[in-house]
Amino acid sequence: MRRKMVAGNWKMHGSLVENKRLLDAVIAGLDGLNEARFVVCAPYPYLSSIQNALQSTNIAWGAQNVSQFEKGAYTGEVSTTMLKDFGCRYVIVGHSERRALFGENNFIVAEKYLAAQRAGITPILCVGETLEQREAEITEQVIEEQLAAVIELTGVESLSQSVIAYEPVWAIGTGKTALPQQAQDVHAFIRSGIAKKNAAIAKELVILYGGSVKANNAADLFAMPDIDGGLIGGASLVASEFVSICRAAHH
Ligand code: PEP
Repeated sequence: MRRKMVAGNWKMHGSLVENKRLLDAVIAGLDGLNEARFVVCAPYPYLSSIQNALQSTNIAWGAQNVSQFEKGAYTGEVSTTMLKDFGCRYVIVGHSERRALFGENNFIVAEKYLAAQRAGITPILCVGETLEQREAEITEQVIEEQLAAVIELTGVESLSQSVIAYEPVWAIGTGKTALPQQAQDVHAFIRSGIAKKNAAIAKELVILYGGSVKANNAADLFAMPDIDGGLIGGASLVASEFVSICRAAHH
């Protein structure tokens, strides 16, 4: 049985003071809810304090990116081993902002995914189409290519140790959420494509939706049969919003 999951992506936001205020409220708001999985993905410098704040709670934590390399002369990069030192159980790979702004192509994303898994960290693999691609009716092709790069490098079995986030780029940070049925159609496409390779893995695969999920639309999205929760950007920075979204996944 798939367990619902909500992951917050703080992006490049926060400070020690703000994080403490946010996490105190989120920890209190989610106390005792153990049916769904909750995760916070924070900027690297805060991982140590987040580990301290969350280690005895029902909230896991992770990073928003990781190097595909193990160690070496890669100035500014952070390795999977370093993330493990701070107790990260998850890492986002292939977020559309990394793809669009930092030149991460499908191959680099696949290498990051593999590096995470080798270290025992669960990758949250983001896939999704731009508005132009949707209008050109190539959404399925784009997503198939994004997934194929990972499957070619790591094998379909690797998906049993991962989470996928369908994030239509046109919905991220824009306030334009995909309609529940629109998102469901893509989630079903992803699941059925993987089922052709391995039905058991497809059945258990957690597929999150991301793109302007808020407290007032989360329940309708999470009620769809192939939507297993959400990857939450802006709303993860507002404790009351994030707690409501997590509670929508819990029911
Ligand atoms: C994201 O950053 O992954 C995201 C979905 O952002 P937002 O919820 O703000 O659209």
